[in-house]
Amino acid sequence: MKFNTQLIHGGISEDPTTGAVSTPIYRSSTFRQHVLGGGPKWEYARTGNPTRASLELLMAQLEEGVAGFAFASGSAAIHAVFSLYSSGDHFIVGKDVYGGTFRLINKVLKRFGLEFTVVDTQDLAAVEAAVQDNTVAIYFETPTNPLLEVSDIEAIAKIAKKHGLKTVIDNTFATPYNQRPLTLGADIVVHSATKYLGGHSDVVGGIAVTNDEEIAEQLAFIQNSIGAVLGPDDSWLLMRGIKTLGARMRIHHENTAAVIELLEKDPRVARVLYPGLPDFPGHDIAAKQMDHFGAMVSFELQAGLSAKKFVESLQVITLAESLGGIESLIEVPAVMTHGSIPREVRLQNGIKDELIRLSVGIEDEEDLVADLQQALDQLS
Ligand SMILES: *Cc1c(COP(=O)(O)O)cnc(C)c1O
Repeated sequence: MKFNTQLIHGGISEDPTTGAVSTPIYRSSTFRQHVLGGGPKWEYARTGNPTRASLELLMAQLEEGVAGFAFASGSAAIHAVFSLYSSGDHFIVGKDVYGGTFRLINKVLKRFGLEFTVVDTQDLAAVEAAVQDNTVAIYFETPTNPLLEVSDIEAIAKIAKKHGLKTVIDNTFATPYNQRPLTLGADIVVHSATKYLGGHSDVVGGIAVTNDEEIAEQLAFIQNSIGAVLGPDDSWLLMRGIKTLGARMRIHHENTAAVIELLEKDPRVARVLYPGLPDFPGHDIAAKQMDHFGAMVSFELQAGLSAKKFVESLQVITLAESLGGIESLIEVPAVMTHGSIPREVRLQNGIKDELIRLSVGIEDEEDLVADLQQALDQLS
C-alpha cells in the first residue's frame, strides 16, 4: 500500500468483532479472562487497549518501523525514550531541540544522572567529536524550531552506527508524509502528535516508533511501567486526524508556496527561512531526505520593524503557540516559545527580535496572502 492509502486503511481498519469501519473507542479498563492465567490478548488497558493499539500499528506502518507506542503527550514519548537508559549514560543532543525537551533534559533527566552534550548537528565533525566512551545515543530534530535548520539524518546515523550508538529523531515538524527517518538509518522516531498528526489543535498526544525489535520490547516495558499512555478517546481522535494528513499536507504545502512568494518579494522582510528555498543552507540535504519541505516558515522583518505590531495586525492568522493545525498560527519566538532564553544567548543562536515563525494552515491561500500583506503594509 502506498502512503496515502495507508493513512486511510492502515492500523486496524475494520473492527474484527463488528466490522465497524471506524475503529471503536474501547473504554474498558480491564478485559475478561475466560481461563485463569489463560493470557488473553487484552488484560488491562494501561498495558494495552485495542483503540490505542490500532493507532500504534498505524504509526508503525507510516514510519516504517516494527512497533509504535502512543503516549499522553509528545513530552511523555520523549521521556519514555530517555527512560530506556541509565544513570551515567551520555547523549549528544541537537542545539535547537524543542524548548520542553531542553527543559526535560536540564531540569529532570540530569537529576537522574543522564549526561548531555549539546551539539550543532549540522556539523558532522562536531557530532563525531562529541562521542565519549559512555555515549549511548544521538538525539536531534530536523528541520529545527524556529530556524528550520536541516541535519543530515543518514550521515549522522552512519556516525552513530560506527560508534555503536542509537539515533533518535523528533520528526514532529516534518511528519512521515515528508520524512521517514527510520528508512534513513535512525533507530527511534518520536512525535508530538499534538501538531500535524492530530492536525486540528484539539488533542495532546505523543508517539514513539522503532524498527528494532529489542528496543520495541524495552519501550513496551517502559510504556507499561511509567504508564503515561494515551487514552482510547484521544487515540481515536488522533487516528481521525491522521486519516487526513495527506489531504491536509497537500494544501499546507500549496499555501506555503504562496506565502513564501509574497514574503520573498516584500521589502519589509529581510530574510525568509525555509528548507525548500534553493539558497537556504540546508536545502540540498533537505531535498535528499524529505519528500516535500513542510509548512513551517520563519522570516525576519527588517531591523527595527516591530514584530509585535505585525502579528497584532493580523486578522485571519492566529497569534498563538503550537503549530501543525488546520488554522494558520503565528508566533514571535523571542517573546513566546523562546522567551525564557536570555536575549544574548538567543541572539547568539540566531533568534532575532524581528524573527517570526508561521505555521501555514489550510485556509484559502488568497486570505492568508492578503492578511500578511495588510499587516506588512501597517509597518510603513
Ligand atoms: C510540541 C513539541 C513537542 C512536545 O510535545 P507535547 O505534545 O506538547 O508534549 C516535542 N517536540 C516538538 C518538535 C514539538 O513541536
